[in-house]
Amino acid sequence: MLTFAELLEAARCSPLYDRWVIQEPLLPEQPGDPLWQTYPTLNTDQLTRFLSGHGYPTPDGARLFLSSGTQGKPKMMPFTESDLERIADLCGRFSVLEGINAQSRSMVLLPMASWTVGRITMDGHCKAGAQVHGIDLHGGVTAWQQACDAIRPTVISSTPSVLAAWAPHYNGPPMTLLETTGEPLLESERRLIEARFGAFVHDAYGLTECVVGVECAMRQGFHYWPDSVYVEILDPVKNTPVPVGTMGEIVLTSFQRDSLPILRYRSGDLGWLVQTPCPCGRQEPLLHLYGRKAPALALPRGVSLDRGLLEWALLAWGYDQPQVIWKGTPGSPATPFVIDHFQPTLEITWNSITNEKDDPLLRRQIFDQFPELAELVHEHALNLVLSLRMR
Ligand SMILES: [Zn+2]
Repeated sequence: MLTFAELLEAARCSPLYDRWVIQEPLLPEQPGDPLWQTYPTLNTDQLTRFLSGHGYPTPDGARLFLSSGTQGKPKMMPFTESDLERIADLCGRFSVLEGINAQSRSMVLLPMASWTVGRITMDGHCKAGAQVHGIDLHGGVTAWQQACDAIRPTVISSTPSVLAAWAPHYNGPPMTLLETTGEPLLESERRLIEARFGAFVHDAYGLTECVVGVECAMRQGFHYWPDSVYVEILDPVKNTPVPVGTMGEIVLTSFQRDSLPILRYRSGDLGWLVQTPCPCGRQEPLLHLYGRKAPALALPRGVSLDRGLLEWALLAWGYDQPQVIWKGTPGSPATPFVIDHFQPTLEITWNSITNEKDDPLLRRQIFDQFPELAELVHEHALNLVLSLRMR
């Protein structure tokens, strides 16, 4: 990985950071120190404008990859061979943590042509010693099953919506483990995928701008490696760090790439750093991902749902740490192949395992309080899932 000094030097040479003061003697000693916190943050719009600007030259030795655009429009992103090697090294650590090894036979079912996640996932599994087969998404469920019959994998890595579309039709032996990436994983998708493929799902979290971390078997968050990413949790309004364990916006600094240095990048996701060590015994810190920052969820037929109001109601009804996730479309690269199997889903999960709740009662409470939701559900415009969280 890059050192902090190497990252600052790369940023100093990049026109993306022209308005930043990255000069001796005014250099932070480490990310997070008071001088560091005077640096501005970088948001998606600024980065997109920079990358699409006519004056942006492709950095020396870099190749351009088209990002997935799962959270916006696709954009061209430069990567050097060194960048890809560092990211492959990180994905290799994910693979080892999950249990991929030289006995693993891996089927990576992801877009291979342009989306970097396909390449870096394959590279990561190779680093862990697995025999790896990259399969593109073309052909849909029938083609995936045929490829699977030929490869006989022990590990499959794909997006949640692809595995959820395939799961009811999967016809083969149980996997050793599964890996999901590229879009939010719903609790209901996790259960379906695990039941039908017969193996534990490890979800991974990362953006095209910065790969972050992966779940261990305890599922208390994403373990991340501080030499590869510096994670800050900032108050979305005041822009100041919040205490450990408090929710805020996830802001990322990547030590993975110098072709496009990523400093203080606003992910648009909310989360918190977990205070207590993970019961699995690993030393790498844990990041809990809560969901997108947008407070209003854009449901079908122009209905806008205030997520905060719904969560407030759930808390008032006694549900511990309620979480509301809206998945209106599958991740964009997979959309053409899974759209027939996909149902827009509003998922509500909560944390208490001692306080069993009655699903029909909660459903009724929600419908009474939010009649616009009741209408969408009754007209089959969305699927409402109520579920205890498995972590
Ligand atoms: Zn752990």
